[in-house]
Amino acid sequence: MRIVVTGAAGFLGSHVCERLLARGHEVVGIDAFTRFYARDRKERNLAGLRRARGFTLYEVNLLHEGLEPAFAAAQAVCHLAGRPGVRGGSSAVFEAGNVGTTEAVLEAAARARVARVVLASSSSVYGPAAAPVREDVPPRPLSVYGHSKRLAELVAARLAGRDGLDLVILRYFTVYGPRQRPDMAFARFVQAAHGGDRMPLLGDGRQMRDFTYVEDAAEATAIALERGRHGATYNVSGGRPVALGDALAMLARFLGREPELVPAPRDAREPYVTAADLTRAREELGWAPRVGLEDGLRWQVEDAVAAVA
Ligand code: NAD
Repeated sequence: MRIVVTGAAGFLGSHVCERLLARGHEVVGIDAFTRFYARDRKERNLAGLRRARGFTLYEVNLLHEGLEPAFAAAQAVCHLAGRPGVRGGSSAVFEAGNVGTTEAVLEAAARARVARVVLASSSSVYGPAAAPVREDVPPRPLSVYGHSKRLAELVAARLAGRDGLDLVILRYFTVYGPRQRPDMAFARFVQAAHGGDRMPLLGDGRQMRDFTYVEDAAEATAIALERGRHGATYNVSGGRPVALGDALAMLARFLGREPELVPAPRDAREPYVTAADLTRAREELGWAPRVGLEDGLRWQVEDAVAAVA
């Protein structure tokens, strides 16, 4: 298939592009190199892709004109571009970055007769739901980010229904691994350890997260593109929730150094526990996570060390 991937220069997007190429697809990446984090990080994400056969990159903003060349002759689009991060950012920024881009992608897909759309959503739409959470519980997002991702789901469903597009929604749970976004906890911890800096630790460290290794997330995305059920929403997670403090202790072991952690109040916009029920993804996609936290963190540290050594 010829597949458009938005957010191709991002953390998840670059891994998804690599996985799709490895499965024999042609990939057309779109990215605007937004200033949420530095361009040189995104260039590093793209390094392997720029040399790969079957990959083309369009540097365009989804909120502007000129998407037609990228969408021409594509069979599917995977919409990963967005404004991530639970903390910081105005509601206007989250709305444009997540809802506005989703509307633009669905409109462009319909115009170009691209039949299939996979939308990146987030565990943040669930809010404080009882864990492990199934896809059919009513969403109760706590953060502006979570609200914008939920609104994006609803907008995508409405436009897909109107224009007769196949829509599959993936709700990713905290993704980590090589090239992780620099604002995320593990990447900040590694950065602080390298630099001998202090790092705020929000809460008591006992909050549980269902961390997802990025290659597992990329594989789930590729399978959802190929054979996800039209109209379905799937959880994508590592399947084994771990306390944040325990994960950071493991990271410190691989780094051989622990940054000074400065206690800070827990962020009320983040649920205390995230844990996914993966039954639907297992049964319908035949997908299950393969990488445990210990291996995944070791590979994240190896990659981060290679980037600065
Ligand atoms: P990222 O910031 O690394 O990647 C997003 C990319 O989208 C960036 O390269 C950015 O330049 C691009 N982009 C943003 N707005 C754009 C626009 N208007 N036009 C073109 N390009 C634009 O983020 P990520 O962590 O890779 O997340 C990817 C997606 O997955 C997001 O939609 C995010 O909400 C979702 N998600 C991520 C996680 C996670 O743990 N990383 C968890 C749940 C959901």
